[in-house]
Amino acid sequence: MNGAATILWFRRDLRTGDHPALEAAAASGGVLGAFVGDPALLAPAGPTRVAHLVASVRALDASIGGRLVVRVGRPEEVLCDLAVEAGARRVVATADFGPAGRARDERVARHLGERGVDLELCDSPYAVAPGTVRSRTGEPYGVFAAYRRAWAALDKARPRPPAVVAWLGAPGEDPSGLLGLAGRVRPDYFADLPDGPAPAAPAGEAAAHAALEAFQARAERYGEARDLPGLEGTSRLSAHLKVGAIHPRAVLDAVGATSTAFVAEVAWRDFYADVLYHDPDSARAPWRGTPRALRVDRDGAARERFVAWARGTTGYPLVDAGMRQLLAEGWMHNRVRMACASFLVKHLHLDWRWGARWFLWRLADGDLASNQHGWQWVAGTGTDAAPFHRIFNPVRQAERFDPEGRYVRRYVPELAHLDAPDCLRPVGARLAPGYPAPIVDLELERREALARHAEARGRA
Ligand SMILES: Cc1cc2nc3c(=O)[nH]c(=O)nc-3n(C[C@H](O)[C@H](O)[C@H](O)COP(=O)(O)OP(=O)(O)OC[C@H]3O[C@@H](n4cnc5c(N)ncnc54)[C@H](O)[C@@H]3O)c2cc1C
Repeated sequence: MNGAATILWFRRDLRTGDHPALEAAAASGGVLGAFVGDPALLAPAGPTRVAHLVASVRALDASIGGRLVVRVGRPEEVLCDLAVEAGARRVVATADFGPAGRARDERVARHLGERGVDLELCDSPYAVAPGTVRSRTGEPYGVFAAYRRAWAALDKARPRPPAVVAWLGAPGEDPSGLLGLAGRVRPDYFADLPDGPAPAAPAGEAAAHAALEAFQARAERYGEARDLPGLEGTSRLSAHLKVGAIHPRAVLDAVGATSTAFVAEVAWRDFYADVLYHDPDSARAPWRGTPRALRVDRDGAARERFVAWARGTTGYPLVDAGMRQLLAEGWMHNRVRMACASFLVKHLHLDWRWGARWFLWRLADGDLASNQHGWQWVAGTGTDAAPFHRIFNPVRQAERFDPEGRYVRRYVPELAHLDAPDCLRPVGARLAPGYPAPIVDLELERREALARHAEARGRA
C-alpha cells in the first residue's frame, strides 16, 4: 500500500451507498476500507448476531472488489498499524453513540492523534442522532410521545447519491475468522441452552434494499398487520438496520409517506438510542436509577424456569412459539417479544437482564439500546409511564393477536393439529401429546407479581 490513503473504518455502516463518511473519505483521494473485529465486543455477542455481521462484512467486501481490510484486535492498535502501513493521515468513520463505542472512539482518537493521524466522525446510524432532540428547556425526553412529536418536527436528511470512490488495497482477506470470536463470554444461567447460530438470513446492502422493496408493496397495511405475528406484516429490516446495510433515512424516504405507524417505529429506535446515550448505565441498571425494580428469584428453581422459557417449553403456546422462533430464526415478532419478556418478568419473577441477555444472544438484530430498553419498558424500570399496571396474559395476547393460531401452530408442532382457540392455551397431554404442561399458574403468579409491584411501589 502506498500514497496518501484515507482509511474508512466501517462499523455500523456496512454499505457503500448513501454514506456521508465514505463521501468525506473519498473527497481527498484513494480510500482504504477497513473492518476491525474487536474481541471485547464480539466475545459477549451471540453466534447469530455475529454470523449476520460476518455475512454483512463479506457482502461489503464483495461490493468493493474484495479489497476490504479485515483485522482482529484492539481497534486503537489495529488502526495505528494500518495508518502507518497505508501512509494515511485521516481515518473517517460514522459516529457511534453507544457507551462502549464512544469510549472506544475516544481511545482510538487519542492513539491515532499521538501519531499525527486524525479520527473524523460524521453522520450517525439513526434518522436523528442521539443527543439532538431536546425539550424547550434543553432536557432530553423520557417519554416517547413527547420525544416523537419533537422528532417528527425536525428536518430529516434524504438519502444521498453514491459517492465516486477510488478503492485502495488488494483483494484477499476473509472475514470468516471473526466467527470464532463470538460467544466466548457466556453466563452460567444459560446452562446447556443451544449455542449454534440460527440459519443465516440474507445479508448485505443488496439484500437490505430487496427487503425494503418487498416491504413497500405491503407498507400500506402495516398499521393493521404489524401486531399480527401470523402475517408477514412488518418490514424485517431490523438486522440490516443494526449493521447499517441500509440507513433509516433510506427506509423513511421509501415508506415514510405511506405509513405513519411505521415512521413511529423508526422513531422508537431513535428514542431508545437517545435514552441510552443520556444514561449509559441504563444498559444494565434501572433507567435513571428508578427504584421500581421488582424483587427477583435466582435459585435453582428460577434457573429451571429460565431454561424452560428459553427453550420454548413453558406450556404457554404464544410464549413457546416466540421463543422457538427466536431459536430457529434469530428473530421474533415485536408483539411476541413483549409477551415473552413480560412472561419472564411478571409470571416467572426472573431478572429482566437474564432475558435481555438471552435475546441479545439469539437475535440477529440484537441491539443494546432497543433490546435493553424494550426489556426495561416491560420490567417497569424503563420509560413506560404506567409501569405498575401492565401484566400481559399470554393466553389473552394469543387470542387477540393470533386468533386463528397461525403463528402458534407454525412454531409449536405439538399443537399443529389443533384449531383455535384450543391451540392458544394450555390444553393438556390428552389433546396435545408431547406438549409440556404449564410450568406456572397464571393467576397465582399474577398475584405474586402484584405483591412484588406493591413492594416496589413502596420504594418508588
Ligand atoms: C423485549 C424487546 C426486545 C427488543 N430487542 C430489539 C433488538 O435487540 N433490536 C431491535 O432492532 N429491536 C428490538 N426490539 C424492537 C422490535 O421488536 C424489533 O425492532 C422489530 O420486531 C424488528 O422487526 P421489523 O424490522 O420487522 O420491525 P418493523 O415493525 O418493520 O419496524 C421497523 C424498524 O423500526 C425499528 N423498531 C420497530 N419497533 C421498535 C421498538 N419497539 N423499539 C425500537 N425500535 C423499533 C426497528 O429498527 C425495525 O426494523 C425489541 C422489542 C422488545 C419488546
